[in-house]
Amino acid sequence: MSVDYYEILSVSREASSGEIKKAYRKLAMKYHPDRNPGDKEAENRFKSCTEAYEVLSDERKRDIYNRYGHDGLKNSGYNGPGNADDIFSSFGDIFGDLFGFGGGQRTRARNDGPIPGNDLRYDVEITFMEAVHGVSKEVELTRRDTCWTCEGSGSRPGHQKQTCPTCGGRGQVVRSQGFFQMSSTCPQCHGEGSIVTDPCNDCHGEGLVEKTKKVALKIPAGVDTGARMRLRGEGEGGRRGGGAGDLYVVVHVKEHEFFKRDGDIIFCRLPVSMVKAALGAKIEVPTIHGKNTIDIPAGSQSGERFTLKKEGVVNLRGRGKGDMVVELQVMTPVNLCEKQKIALREFETLCEESGQDTEEEGFFKKLFHEVLGKN
Ligand SMILES: [Zn+2]
Ligand SMILES: [Zn+2]
Repeated sequence: MSVDYYEILSVSREASSGEIKKAYRKLAMKYHPDRNPGDKEAENRFKSCTEAYEVLSDERKRDIYNRYGHDGLKNSGYNGPGNADDIFSSFGDIFGDLFGFGGGQRTRARNDGPIPGNDLRYDVEITFMEAVHGVSKEVELTRRDTCWTCEGSGSRPGHQKQTCPTCGGRGQVVRSQGFFQMSSTCPQCHGEGSIVTDPCNDCHGEGLVEKTKKVALKIPAGVDTGARMRLRGEGEGGRRGGGAGDLYVVVHVKEHEFFKRDGDIIFCRLPVSMVKAALGAKIEVPTIHGKNTIDIPAGSQSGERFTLKKEGVVNLRGRGKGDMVVELQVMTPVNLCEKQKIALREFETLCEESGQDTEEEGFFKKLFHEVLGKN
């Protein structure tokens, strides 16, 4: 039967997400198939700790698991990860830290065949308005690209690589330590089985050279922080005929002074004078698309909200524009001149004379009654 996810990761039930990630990282490093080729036991351990991590790192799934166990997860439509490749695709982030972004290095060849370039990550910061309306940007990226002098082979044109003398072309060396035989990657050829004896002058045998390239980013309207775009073939160059990796652009959106955003909805706080709030008014409001007006009825209070239809952000998936929500903030007048003070005192006297129970008096009456037991 299924084993307890907390036991698999050796963490307590109260473990924080950081502790869970750390525990998983340690186990994943230990049992990763690349480190244990052909070891079925390690592969199973790797799969089970990955499954445990997928559940415990997701707040919603963890909650279901805590309350209803494995059956609860099944009933909620979660069937566990499929094969190892699915795991890698859904865990790009954590494997990104371990094995290079997107797990690209995992596919590294152990022989003389083509070596695809690594995926790269580029973080771009844009303004609030750029995110809302979309923006085209050209960025300069310096990354390792295929050396075209040697076509990524690393050898001077006309020269071939030679079989590695240390490992005899196997890419692995075997060492004996006590009773154990340990096989490890050949230190001379780094597992490739062959070495460059006449290195290319341009890349010094690397097959890759640093190049700066301008890349056009077309950021669509409606993106928000965390949005990830994939630019095929814009990552690191490949070697020996391997294709280039991909470039992942991760978007970060700067905050706006007045507008806040939740998905497609825009929030804005609107300061309104005490008089306008009391008497009602038509007020012009800036929106992300220009301006609009709202009708404030007489007697409006601070915190009251008004919705302006379709003045929000364009939905990324084509679901039209969101709304804008405006929250009133009634401003108490300050720096009053003598005449204004007199007018306000007169106003208060009028209120008292007309017997209008102000909010304030009602509040105190009720409170005194409750605390002191009298009116
Ligand atoms: Zn070797
Ligand atoms: Zn070269």
